Amino acid sequence: MTTMSKIELKPLPYDYKALEPHISEQTLLYHHDKHLAAYVNKTLALIENTAFADASLEQIMFSADGALFNNAAQVWNHNFYFEQFSPTPQSKPEGELLKAIDAGFGSYRKLRERMTAEALSLFGSGWVWLASDAHGVLKIVSKPNAGNPLTDGLYPLLAIDVWEHAYYIDYRNARVEGVNALWKVLDWKVIERRYAEILSQSK
Ligand code: MN
Repeated sequence: MTTMSKIELKPLPYDYKALEPHISEQTLLYHHDKHLAAYVNKTLALIENTAFADASLEQIMFSADGALFNNAAQVWNHNFYFEQFSPTPQSKPEGELLKAIDAGFGSYRKLRERMTAEALSLFGSGWVWLASDAHGVLKIVSKPNAGNPLTDGLYPLLAIDVWEHAYYIDYRNARVEGVNALWKVLDWKVIERRYAEILSQSK
């Protein structure tokens, strides 16, 4: 996929209170308006008057390293993360995606258990991803810091933000409660749409 994402603070696709009680208004105010905004501003400051001045997020992620990669990837990761939630989510995967989940992990319940276990065992800050290869085969990928499976040639489907800032206001140190809350507002309709796009481009 050759998406070209602009470097800007995208508004949340729902109201700040929309995901309560699972993700609070205060968490979204800090996570989106403070943390994500800071990654956007830092990325823009780092590319000013450089060869990356007109680059997309994806071009930066594939070419840069260090602070520029970290900040640009965090912008991409958070845009992708916030877009997967809904106050009225489709609560389970269906169709082609469910078939691939059953084939790869045994069942939807086992996928959730495996991803939750990966999130709990990831030391420090990072992301746990459900990703697809170009043929639609699913993989769980753990990445430290700002890591993203795109740079491994995989296509992200679902992101769990394992940074403390994602859950500390609502769940303090209980990362498992923060992860369990995400499943309650995760909209599988969005994940299915992402998966269908990958399959359509592999044909
Ligand atoms: Mn975050």
